[in-house]
Amino acid sequence: MSEPSKPNQVDVYRRKFMAVLSGAAATVLAPSLAVRAVDSAVADKSAMDGSVMKVRPLTQPVTDEVRWGLLIDIEQLQDGGATMVAACQREHGWGDDPKASPEQQAQWIRTVTVTDQQSGREFTLPVMCQHCETAPCVDVCPTGASMRRADGIVQVNKHTCIGCRYCMMACPYKARSFVHESLEDQLPHSPRGKGTVESCNLCVHRIDAGRLPACVEAEPEAVIFGDLNDPNSRIRQALAAQGGQQIRADLQLNNGVRYQGL
Ligand code: SF4
Ligand code: SF4
Repeated sequence: MSEPSKPNQVDVYRRKFMAVLSGAAATVLAPSLAVRAVDSAVADKSAMDGSVMKVRPLTQPVTDEVRWGLLIDIEQLQDGGATMVAACQREHGWGDDPKASPEQQAQWIRTVTVTDQQSGREFTLPVMCQHCETAPCVDVCPTGASMRRADGIVQVNKHTCIGCRYCMMACPYKARSFVHESLEDQLPHSPRGKGTVESCNLCVHRIDAGRLPACVEAEPEAVIFGDLNDPNSRIRQALAAQGGQQIRADLQLNNGVRYQGL
């Protein structure tokens, strides 16, 4: 069971998130409230190109030497993130379940339209699991199925998920889905299961094989994948040069997904 203080923390996250939504339409987040500057400890460091992936031999345990993350420049996206959504759908086979209703379809990544209440500027960004360092979804899981790897990837162990959906309620980004119906024609590299929760796993099967996440491959001009721990990585270099933001940085979850152009 979780410590008594942890559900209270999550209640706080949830209240803050609902407070943001209260002034906006269901799919609109006010940027003045939703976005804060990225942690300067990351943004301040300069770096050289580090585009070569570090591949961990599968015989070695995952360590915290690396912290995988994404940097998404929304102004460079072809279509507000729709290409990334389609790539994720193809890679993991979600969102096209003939037995599920439209409301029940899984969604690992979605596009969200934001209207700045002050300037009236409207823009669209892709939102997936933000791979939080302090992850509410991990805190509330009673079985440990919702877990964060040492390298920062947050995912669900489908063998130990009991489908309670506490993690879905705890996630401030609505990043998780529940599989309502039994599935057919599953993809062997991305097994799914009725009665379990799922979300973006940063394409962990690709990362462990030294490949880029599918959505990054689909938007190479707009998205950088890399090691947030390494001052020489391309992602750190870009953050140092142009800065970056976390969605709802005020929650202090230290997200692994960062944005530019918000
Ligand atoms: Fe968990 Fe991802 Fe939601 Fe953060 S964004 S709380 S890591 S599911
Ligand atoms: Fe989907 Fe992989 Fe991109 Fe996550 S990293 S949104 S799982 S394609």
